Amino acid sequence: MFKTPPLQLLRTYGSNTSANASRKLAIGRLPSIPSPRVIKGHLDQYIVGQDKSKRVLSVAVYNHYLRNHDKRRRLELQRARTLIWEEAQKREKEREEKQGFQSSESRAGLKNLQKQLLAQPDDELVLSKSNVLMVGPSGSGKTLMATTLAGVLDVPIAITDCTHLTQAGYIGDSVEVCIERLLVNADFDVSKAESGIIVLDEIDKLAKPAASMGTKDVSGEGVQQALLKIIEGHSVEISVKRPVKQGTDSKNNQTTTKKDETFVINTSNILFMIMGAFVGLDKHVIRRIQKAKNPEEQHNAEEDTEKLRFSNTIEEVDLGNGRKESALNLVTPTDLVSFGIIPELIGRVPIVTALQPLQRDDLYHILRDPKNALLEQYKYIFKQFGVELCVTEKALQKVAQFALREGTGARGLRGIMERLLLNVNYDCPDSGISYVLVTEDTVKSLQESDYSLNTNIDVNYYSRGEREKFIEDIYKEDNKLGKELDEKYGRISTREKEGKL
Ligand code: ADP
Repeated sequence: MFKTPPLQLLRTYGSNTSANASRKLAIGRLPSIPSPRVIKGHLDQYIVGQDKSKRVLSVAVYNHYLRNHDKRRRLELQRARTLIWEEAQKREKEREEKQGFQSSESRAGLKNLQKQLLAQPDDELVLSKSNVLMVGPSGSGKTLMATTLAGVLDVPIAITDCTHLTQAGYIGDSVEVCIERLLVNADFDVSKAESGIIVLDEIDKLAKPAASMGTKDVSGEGVQQALLKIIEGHSVEISVKRPVKQGTDSKNNQTTTKKDETFVINTSNILFMIMGAFVGLDKHVIRRIQKAKNPEEQHNAEEDTEKLRFSNTIEEVDLGNGRKESALNLVTPTDLVSFGIIPELIGRVPIVTALQPLQRDDLYHILRDPKNALLEQYKYIFKQFGVELCVTEKALQKVAQFALREGTGARGLRGIMERLLLNVNYDCPDSGISYVLVTEDTVKSLQESDYSLNTNIDVNYYSRGEREKFIEDIYKEDNKLGKELDEKYGRISTREKEGKL
C-alpha cells in the first residue's frame, strides 16, 4: 500500500551524502491513510448512531495502518541505508584507485556518513498492534462497521463465525480458515492479504463455561488458545485450491481447474476485529462494581454466571449526579475474564468498544437515511417495473416499532419490509398499477395478520391516471412527503389552493 522502491530512496538520499542525509532518512513520507476524521465521516454515511464506537474504531484503524506504514518505512530505510553505504564505499574505492591513495578528507567523510547512517534514535521503538474487540447486541452494526472500514481503506476483509471453529484434530474448521478466506478475498495476493482485516464473529460463544473455570476445557478454550498465535502475529502456511484458468470448451466458455497451492502468510500486520453479543457481560460489570462497593457480599459465581448468560437486557450503572452509563461502556479485562475469555486473548486485543442496542428512532433512521438504506433499495426495485413506491413517515415509525419488539436489532427491519411488500411485489408487475402507497394502516394490517405472508395487507394501489389521488392520500398522513411529490411533478395541491398548507 505505501511502498517506495529503495532505488527511489537511494536517488533521493544517495546523491546527498552530506550531513542532511540521515535527517532526511529519518523523516520518511506521510502515509496515504485517510485521517480518523475522514474514516469516521465515511462510517457516518452508512452507520446510524454508535458515535463513540465509530470514533474509537476510526482512531484504532488509523493507528493500525500508521504502524504498518511505519514498519514498512523502517524496512525501506534500512535497505536504503545499506545501499547508500555500499554505493559510497564503491565510489571511494574507485577514487582511491584513480588517485593511488586515500585522502584523510575522504576517510573522514566516509566515517561521518557511516555515523549518520547508523541507527536512528527511534529505531528501537516497536509499536504494538491494536486489535479491536467489539461488544454489542446482535444487529447493532458490528459487522457493518468492519466491512465499511475495509471499504474505506480499500483492504480485503474476511469474516469467520467462531462457532464453526475447532481445535486441530477435531472435526470442523481449524482456525487457519480465517486466513485462507482472507487470501481468497485478496485474490491470492499475499501482500494484500497481509494488510487486510480478519473479523472473528461470535467470539463470545467460545467463552469457557462457568463450570470449567480453572479446569481444562477442550472446546471453546482450545479454540481461543489456537487463535492466540495468529492474532499475535505469526507466519502461517496454508494450502488452498486455487482456481486456474485452463482454456475454453467447445462452447467457447472459459474452463477452470483447481490447483493445490501453498502460501505463507504473515499475520503480524493483519488487523483482527473480534466481536460478539456477550449477552450477560453487563451483569458481570455490575457485579464487579457492586463487589468493589460492598466486598462483604457473597456470590455463588457458578450459579450467577449461568443465570446471567440467559438474560437479554443491558444494565445501566448509576454514576451519581443523575448520570447513567451503559454497563457495557465500563467493561474491563477482568469482566471479560469472568465471562470466560482467556486473559492471553484479552491481552492481544487492547481496544474494547461497546455498541449500544438500537432504539426505535435509530431503527427508523436506518430504514431511510444511510447510503444503501432499505427504503431506497425497495423504491429502486419497484422503479424497475415502473411503479413509484411511497412509504409515509408514520408507516416507517411503525415498522421501527415492530422491529424493536422483535429484539433482533436492525436485522428485523429487512424481514418486516419483505413481509410488508411481498404481495405488493407479486401484484404490481404487468398490472397497470403505477403508484403504491404504504401507510401506518398498512403496517398495522401486517401486524394483525400475524405477519403471515399469505394474508392480503391493506395497501393502496393507483393507476397512472390516479396520480392526483395518490398525492392527496399521501398528504393525509405525511405533509413533507406530499410536498416532495408536488415539487417533483410541478403540481399545486388542492390543500395549497385552499390555503391549508
Ligand atoms: P451485528 O451487530 O450482529 O454484526 P450487523 O452489522 O450484521 O449486526 O447488522 C445487520 C444489518 O442491520 C446490517 O446489514 C445493516 O443493514 C443493519 N444495521 C445494523 N446496525 C446498523 C446501524 N447502526 N446503522 C445502519 N444499519 C445497521
